[in-house]
Amino acid sequence: MNSERFWKIVKIYNNLMREAIDGPNCTDLSICHGDCCSIKIDVPKILAEEYIRRGHATTDDFIRSNIFSLHLRFNDKTGKCFLFDKKINGCSVHGSGIKPPQCWIYPTNFSIPKNEEIRCKKVSGWKIVDKEKAEKAELLLKEYITFCENEANDEILKIELVKNL
Ligand code: SF4
Repeated sequence: MNSERFWKIVKIYNNLMREAIDGPNCTDLSICHGDCCSIKIDVPKILAEEYIRRGHATTDDFIRSNIFSLHLRFNDKTGKCFLFDKKINGCSVHGSGIKPPQCWIYPTNFSIPKNEEIRCKKVSGWKIVDKEKAEKAELLLKEYITFCENEANDEILKIELVKNL
């Protein structure tokens, strides 16, 4: 997959998920404290470079991983991903169109049994409002994962080559 296809996938996926899911207002402090961002997320290098280019991150915000190429730095003081922004009580790349695809999945995933409203860690009211868009997004996520795994394998090979010089 080339980088053009990668960006197409990430952007279409972000749009589909934004429209497919509805739920409580996570930026309302009385509802949410960003508990779902207390996880470690992997991203491909190409996405990390774009976060740096757009000013969301610096090189110190990424740690080498063997799942995808890089981990987003976990802020031990806040117990959250470094992209969680206390001021907006939410993810600083939420509306960027290039939020890490995995982050959209919680708590609904791509389908909900019987399509009932479900709960996250704090509150109920999450639902899928457009099943078709969620299904399309699920297919795109598979392509995204394949890209990320291939990129990570290439990165490991490059590191090995440098080590053996
Ligand atoms: S990238 Fe954003 S949504 Fe995902 S864990 Fe980090 S702060 Fe939360």
